[in-house]
Order: sequence, then C-alpha cells, then structure tokens
Amino acid sequence: MLRSLLFCALTLLGATGPTALAAPGPDPDAALARLADYLRIDTINPPGNESRAVAFLAKIFDAEGIAYETFEATPGRGSIVARLPGGDQPALMLLNHSDVVPADANAWVVPPLSGAERDGYLYGRGALDTKGLAMIQLEAFLALHRSGRALDRPVLFATTADEEAGGYFGAGWMVRQRPDLIADVGFVLNEGGGGRVQGTIPVFSVEVTQKIPLWLRVTARGTPGARLLAPGAHGPGRSDSGPGPGDGAALCAAPAARGGRGHEGRGRS
Ligand SMILES: [Zn+2]
Repeated sequence: MLRSLLFCALTLLGATGPTALAAPGPDPDAALARLADYLRIDTINPPGNESRAVAFLAKIFDAEGIAYETFEATPGRGSIVARLPGGDQPALMLLNHSDVVPADANAWVVPPLSGAERDGYLYGRGALDTKGLAMIQLEAFLALHRSGRALDRPVLFATTADEEAGGYFGAGWMVRQRPDLIADVGFVLNEGGGGRVQGTIPVFSVEVTQKIPLWLRVTARGTPGARLLAPGAHGPGRSDSGPGPGDGAALCAAPAARGGRGHEGRGRS
C-alpha cells in the first residue's frame, strides 16, 4: 500500500509543474525504514514532545539542503515548515502533524512505538494518523527537490504539533503568530481523504472539511417536575402514569448533554 500511495503523492506533485517528474524516483524500501524510525519517536499527546519529530525532520532537510523554519509554541511543542522555491502561482502546502493519540499497549500485538513489521504490515501509533502521511509527503517533497525542476509555485512541507488536541500549539499557533510562513499558500493537502483499490479500480476519497463542535442553546417551556424514572423502568422520560410535566425537560436535556460530552472528548482525525 505504501508504494501505491507514494505513486499517488508523486502524481499529485507532478501536476504542479509544467512537466512530469524526472528521475530519481522514490525508494520505497528507504521510505519504509524512515517511517519505522519516525514511528519510534514518542510524540504521544499529551504531552506531545513534538520537537523530537522536528529534530528528526530537520536532520533530513539539512542533509538535502532544503530551507526550513521551526518554531515552538511552548517548550517541546515544535513544528517545522520547509519550502521549495517556485514561481508566482499560489503555493502548495503538504500538511501533516507529528503528535499521536495515546495507545494502550495491552491492546496491541506489538509495542505501540516499536515500528515493527509483521506479516507485511508496519505497526506503530500514528502509522495512519499521520506519520505515514508525513513520510509519503516527505518522499514526494524530496523527489521534487532532487528533480531540480523549476516549479511554477512554491511547495511547502509542514509538520505541526498538537493536532490531536485542537492544534492550539501547532497549526493554530502558526496561523496566529507566524502567518508569514504560509502567506502565499493557495492549496493544502492534508489528512482526511484516502485511497484504496476496490476490485480493480483505484478510488481516492477527498475530504473537504471536518466536523466541529456544535453548541446549541436549548430553551424548554413547560412546568418543571421531577417525576422521572430511570431509563428502562417504563421507558425513558416517562413516569408510571405516562408522560407528565417533567417529560419535556428530560427530552430536551438529553441532546444537550450528548453535545457536551462530545466537545469534552479528544478530537480524532
Ligand atoms: Zn490526524
């Protein structure tokens, strides 16, 4: 699957220039090894420690001679933005995040941060969200750089912190404090879509937005009461003699309570 995704990423980037990418092509084995190394970096959020991922990526960009900037919204919560220069068309940004959600090792067949390969699968917290995406984008980014082609637009590679907890110390901070880093960006390729082969047909889904908290202010009119029984006794929100004055309040309150829990929970993307 990694090989097919690499091909997809390179195809997308090839469309940004007037001609297709030339050699050198991607090296799937090296990309796989790099992904395994990346999975072994502990960036579980909380607390994040995403500057570890920044150091990993900065070393690669240094070796390749690619310009980049880093920032820490708070100590240890680092992000990095690398840039390939190009023409005056709106820039394309490849965006991913380095933090991952916690993992219960008891529920894993291998240690969550092992980057172990088993039966043809690479295991690791964040392999799909989004360290795998990061390495796919990175391979495309590096191939574009190595091709030496003149680009009709700048191409950015950005790895940000704290996406799993709202992005306040990552993309959110960058938008607020360093908008200059992304001022020329016209297009962003980010997580959310996906690709798979259905039968013999490659299918790529495109996600254009994500759900966000929906806050509702609910007003219930009627005579308040406290005649409710536990759900299941005689049906939710009903007293033993059937619907009463308190039922309206109970039915209105339930959706609001669900909405509240949803907001407090950690976002996944
Ligand atoms: Zn994600």
